[in-house]
Amino acid sequence: MIHEIAPHKLNNEFKVCDPKPTDFLVCYDGAKTLLKKSGDGYVIPRVGELLESQGKSLDDFEGHYLFSIDDTAFFLDNRTVEAPEGYEYMGNRTFRGMNPVERMGGATAAHIAHWESLNKFCGRCGNVTIRSDHERSIICPKCGNVVYPRISPVVIVAVRNGDKLLMAHNIDNPNPRLFLISGFVEIGESLEQAVHREVMEEAGLRVKNIRYFGSQPWPFSDSLIAGFTAELDGDDTIRMQQEELSEAMWVKREDIPEYETDVSISCCLIENFRRGYTIDN
Ligand SMILES: [Zn+2]
Repeated sequence: MIHEIAPHKLNNEFKVCDPKPTDFLVCYDGAKTLLKKSGDGYVIPRVGELLESQGKSLDDFEGHYLFSIDDTAFFLDNRTVEAPEGYEYMGNRTFRGMNPVERMGGATAAHIAHWESLNKFCGRCGNVTIRSDHERSIICPKCGNVVYPRISPVVIVAVRNGDKLLMAHNIDNPNPRLFLISGFVEIGESLEQAVHREVMEEAGLRVKNIRYFGSQPWPFSDSLIAGFTAELDGDDTIRMQQEELSEAMWVKREDIPEYETDVSISCCLIENFRRGYTIDN
């Protein structure tokens, strides 16, 4: 999954420090990130090379430290800068084509950048906000309002019916493959209640024996995803929610193609079923 970057290690404790030329620099314009073209793909620019391409030096640097992976830090410049030759602003999905360190680091930096971009003004009094100098928060110097990074919980569930798995395709997903039922946790409910509600809303099915599978950060939707397995309870007739899904069906184990498990817990849950594992092994 995206956060499994061993032998590399994410160091996400808060601190304030200056960059090295070899650290990564994420410039974010409110929706997209400035990336450097490299062959057929993109890489995250380094502080030194991006400053140089802009005719600037480290003395001109205006970004701030986010976190590091091993000894290489990720810095953020949340102002829109003009893209130099060989650079382009790209959407978050571009990170998914990068190596594990840049995929995790870039997407997580963009997650923080998105949160900062949404909180330039206080939601309570409208005053201009500032970043805290002792924790990862944004504070209002006028009324004292404190805003922490937005991490919205999501549940995803592999619903089994004998040797069949409930699979679905979300209308908004540009990837045409079938995945699992998932959705944001609503106010006032537990993770397990969210599983019951989402499966009923999206597929019209009841489930039982809900069991925790694992979790992962999902910076692409400012989320933390909790994965579960469950069994069908009763009638297997699918009543698909047309506003959310384009497809929902029971798929036999032998008809499920292989899924890559290096990025998403969704694919791990599907592979877990396809290979015939139970939650205990
Ligand atoms: Zn305020």
